[in-house]
Amino acid sequence: MKVHIKRLIRQPRKRNQIIDVVCGMRVNPAIAMHSIQHNSGTSYYFCSAYCKAQFEATPTIFVR
Ligand SMILES: [Zn+2]
Repeated sequence: MKVHIKRLIRQPRKRNQIIDVVCGMRVNPAIAMHSIQHNSGTSYYFCSAYCKAQFEATPTIFVR
């Protein structure tokens, strides 16, 4: 039973995290200041303006 309760607490936190495809850091989209909407309609979130610039320069190497 204790294990079940722990899972319920942990899951929401993980769901809020999106991977910054440039550097691999976890980013919370709710508070992320750097994001971009790709042509495919997918939103990408970045930890910094630097990572966003990297993505904008060569998105093809980051989009799978
Ligand atoms: Zn980053």
